[in-house]
Amino acid sequence: MSLIVQKFGGTSVGDIARIEQVADKVARFRADGHDIVVVVSAMSGETNRLIALAQDIQERPDPREMDVLVSTGEQVTTALLSMALIKRGVKARSYNGSQVKILTDNAHTKARIREIDDANMRRDLAQGSVVVVAGFQGVDENGNITTLGRGGSDTTAVALAAALKADECQIYTDVDGVYTTDPRVVDGARRLEKITFEEMLEMASMGSKVLQIRAVEFAGKYNVPLRVLHSFEEGPGTLITMEDDGVMEMPTIAGIAFNRDEAKLTIAGVPDTPGVAYKILGPVGEANIEVDVIVQNVSHDNTADFTFTVSRSDLPRAEEVLRSVCEKLGAREVTSNNKIAKVSVVGVGMRSHAGVASQMFAALGEENINILMITTSEIKISVIIEERFLELAVRTLHSSFGLEKDPSKEGSA
Ligand code: ASP
Ligand code: MG
Repeated sequence: MSLIVQKFGGTSVGDIARIEQVADKVARFRADGHDIVVVVSAMSGETNRLIALAQDIQERPDPREMDVLVSTGEQVTTALLSMALIKRGVKARSYNGSQVKILTDNAHTKARIREIDDANMRRDLAQGSVVVVAGFQGVDENGNITTLGRGGSDTTAVALAAALKADECQIYTDVDGVYTTDPRVVDGARRLEKITFEEMLEMASMGSKVLQIRAVEFAGKYNVPLRVLHSFEEGPGTLITMEDDGVMEMPTIAGIAFNRDEAKLTIAGVPDTPGVAYKILGPVGEANIEVDVIVQNVSHDNTADFTFTVSRSDLPRAEEVLRSVCEKLGAREVTSNNKIAKVSVVGVGMRSHAGVASQMFAALGEENINILMITTSEIKISVIIEERFLELAVRTLHSSFGLEKDPSKEGSA
């Protein structure tokens, strides 16, 4: 008998029929003698619906009120799932974030979890109840409702699993695991049995939208075994875990990640003096805009061009900030392009294999795909390219690194 945290995403609780199916599944685990904490998302589309309502009032509504609004979606599903369990004779109790309580900082709409009180959950579990917790939300020290950012229910699940020292955190979703790349882009994409936290982090951060990145960070930090599974199909899913030397034969490349949510900005003709990078990127950071890839070129006239990428939704604000920097520094101009995308090859095996970068650049070159920017880390190589080449690039790299399904093994997985 073990303690399992199970998280069901929006599509898994998208209507009453599905909530009943989730209740059947949870009831089965309970009948097997496991202690179960369930974390639920809002019904699919609900969070978007609520955000749209708010935006009918104002484009950027007050963040505190935004959290009061969007946290309601999860409260609905906790109650409905608990009712469905109780109907099946399974003891169940629902909790919202402040009832647990999940204490966060006060950064509304992107709060971070500080502490979890496990007393209520422990008591209910000891009494044989399934504990059903609203994902995505918490409470700050003044009692204000907070939310953890889009997709935050994953983080709730992992944080609860860490706090309760659960044996496994199972993320049930509408895919049956983590794939070598997005199967909608590459037919031959393959489900991975296992992937390391580190690799998953790179895959998640760059567009494999299976899991919220912060949830993976959290799981890695507290070594919570994380499993991604299909809500309504049987199967082992993908286990996200520590790198265990030897036991798991690591391929050089685990997968190809990509992200369309990229925009790039260039500030050209900046006087090339010490401290200038800070003068440019400092104000961008102060505006809470995350910068990803950065490239600086120095030209013959002692001026520099700075190019960096931000997410597309941050582009208008980043441009605003940069124009005022441009004026202050006496730089020449600010230009931007939001028709770019990022493609990355990811794998811990890269550490011990040379030549991955050259293989990547060769493959892209053969398809005449121009590389606009390059960035590398220990376990990934990313390139920025024009968005219209994205799918071609992903398919090319997937086959160049031999990631497609092995036909001889088909059916045995
Ligand atoms: N309902 C929230 C969202 O749609 C949180 C979640 O589903 O994880 O972002
Ligand atoms: Mg999600």
